[in-house]
Amino acid sequence: MSDLDDVRRLAQALIDEHLPTGWVFAYDHARRRAGATHFTHRRITLSRHLTARYDDATNHQTLLHEIAHALVGPEVGHGRAWLAAARRLGYTGGVRHSGEAAVELARWVGTCPAGHVLHRFRRPTRELSCGRCSRRFDRAHLVVWSERPPA
Ligand SMILES: [Zn+2]
Ligand SMILES: [Zn+2]
Repeated sequence: MSDLDDVRRLAQALIDEHLPTGWVFAYDHARRRAGATHFTHRRITLSRHLTARYDDATNHQTLLHEIAHALVGPEVGHGRAWLAAARRLGYTGGVRHSGEAAVELARWVGTCPAGHVLHRFRRPTRELSCGRCSRRFDRAHLVVWSERPPA
């Protein structure tokens, strides 16, 4: 269990320390993924629901995971450059945290043309367009998926 205000303060401190000016933190309402990086709006978000359930260490790790995405850009996915940046921040991905749905366990990472990043635990079976770019299915906002190698 974590206090949402404490995590918000930690998030903003980490963002101020590691990211260029302009990046901000917010909570979102996702129920299936812990964190997200919104490149277009320079925003890192955590799920309000999952953050409250997870412990501080897990939330800290999720923040480092997302900050590393923000540092290396949307094209990289969970590739080497992302992992190197994440490690420098102190991300210990691969270690199982108590949050069973934490993003570091997500096998699939998707990116829309605008750079929104999504995480999924199972192989996406249907074409998906980005829900943040368009409310209805639109091939102009198709999400491209890549599979993260098993830890
Ligand atoms: Zn990720
Ligand atoms: Zn998008």
